[in-house]
Amino acid sequence: VGEVLDGKALARRVEAQVIARVAALGAQGVAPSLHVILVGEVHASDIYVRHKQRACARVSIGSHVHRLPASVTQAVLCGLIAELNSDPQVHGILVQLPLPDHIQAHIVLNSVDHLKDVDGFHYINAGHLATDRNGLAPCTPKGVMRMLTEHGVTTRGSHAVVVGRSRVVGRPMAAMLLAEDATVTIVHRHTAGPARYTSQGDIVVVAVGRPGLITPHWVKHGAVVIDVGINRTEHGLCGDVQFDAVLDKAKLVSPVPGGVGPMTIAMLLENTCEAAERQLTRRRDDL
Ligand code: NAD
Repeated sequence: VGEVLDGKALARRVEAQVIARVAALGAQGVAPSLHVILVGEVHASDIYVRHKQRACARVSIGSHVHRLPASVTQAVLCGLIAELNSDPQVHGILVQLPLPDHIQAHIVLNSVDHLKDVDGFHYINAGHLATDRNGLAPCTPKGVMRMLTEHGVTTRGSHAVVVGRSRVVGRPMAAMLLAEDATVTIVHRHTAGPARYTSQGDIVVVAVGRPGLITPHWVKHGAVVIDVGINRTEHGLCGDVQFDAVLDKAKLVSPVPGGVGPMTIAMLLENTCEAAERQLTRRRDDL
């Protein structure tokens, strides 16, 4: 039987480091703050935003939520972002996804000052990631990388298989694993016989959004399996991995809840500190 990778415990350790960074910023007269923009009423988004606010409070990062109605125009939304971009008291800006259909998400996300883009979705930050520079990196795959390093999982020379290729998770995940010298395979909706690939992975990261997709048959003995999926079912929250069955075969498996989710939020706190530190010292070299 494998080991359960406790993302919550690791997230608390990251938070302790963030608290020290916030204190160091405070000593220089900077109170880091995160501004979240929430458009419309999406139940899951409400929950995520509440988790983010609570996490900010735990580490003394200021957090502000700007609620806009679902009917808001793109111009008004971008106007608010422009205001926050030019406000020196604002260090991080996050636009909670999904946005309503009449709004072009990529235009909105790229209107955020890339120095304040704590979600790492701006194309400049995506470009930094693609070219191995230190920009602000997306929180979820960054959290997965931290889970791997903290558990002594070797990426160099290993075969990592990423299931899912979204711009939010799968693609940046593959880029980060590649940057850490893994051999990376990406499996997606159109892959024929996906289990052929996943069952060869030393590391398998799953970000699809289909409960129970990953059975033991998809996983090789002794693999490390990270479950990014979040699915709301009648039995509660679950991931994409058949947790108990896969745990019997794998070396290390992250649970849902209590795995990647808390680490994603911890990385958001880290990115907010990182953004504030760079804005303070005007370290625009990488960003
Ligand atoms: P998405 O819908 O944008 O992408 C899903 C990907 O899965 C696509 O690339 C698609 O090609 C692939 N896919 C679909 N069916 C497949 C199949 N049968 N086999 C292989 N690949 C298949 O989703 P996303 O935004 O990347 O999110 C994925 C999951 O991760 C969701 O459940 C989401 O809720 C969750 N998520 C969790 C966190 C977190 O913090 N834990 C953060 C972001 C997303």
